[in-house]
Amino acid sequence: MSNFSPNKIIIHCTDSGWANLATVDSWHRQRGFDEIGYHFLILNENTDPELASSGTDGFIQFGRSLNKMGAHCLGQNNKSIGIALVGKDSFSKKQMASLSKLVDWLIEQFNIDPGQVFAHREFNSKKTCPNFDIDFWMDYRHEEGDIEVIDGFVHCSKEVDIKKSCPVEGNCNKIKESVDAIKKVLGVNKEIDCEL
Ligand SMILES: [Zn+2]
Repeated sequence: MSNFSPNKIIIHCTDSGWANLATVDSWHRQRGFDEIGYHFLILNENTDPELASSGTDGFIQFGRSLNKMGAHCLGQNNKSIGIALVGKDSFSKKQMASLSKLVDWLIEQFNIDPGQVFAHREFNSKKTCPNFDIDFWMDYRHEEGDIEVIDGFVHCSKEVDIKKSCPVEGNCNKIKESVDAIKKVLGVNKEIDCEL
């Protein structure tokens, strides 16, 4: 019987242009872990540098068993599920759609409070991982059509009616705060191109 009972989900990125389960597993073993430290890996299109297009975009690979504690976030491993997106600061629509489905499934399976979905950086101020605003994404992921992350910014495919989508009628402060938060965390000065 497993005594691992997670109450939160922590999102990571691999900080690499490509990777798959085998490569991340070998990286983590080189660091002295028993096996891959993440419970899940969400692939991008460039899983194998030998293959120009491997058709793996958005594919979810199972890493460490959900019966076991992971090794992905110092101080949080005994209570958290670790999911890593392959990439640095850009994640495809298919990756983000898979992440959303996976998060929903885990919330249901483990009875996790949806407010307990975090970015790795929230537990380690030296990191920016996974290089986009998880809170912003959690708020808008079900409403705003296809979502992708480009250069650390969350983009929505649908044109967003601020009055309709904003939690406060006719007030987009939440969106502005989130965009500013991303800029602050990533230390970059780019405008979000999200038709907001
Ligand atoms: Zn991380």
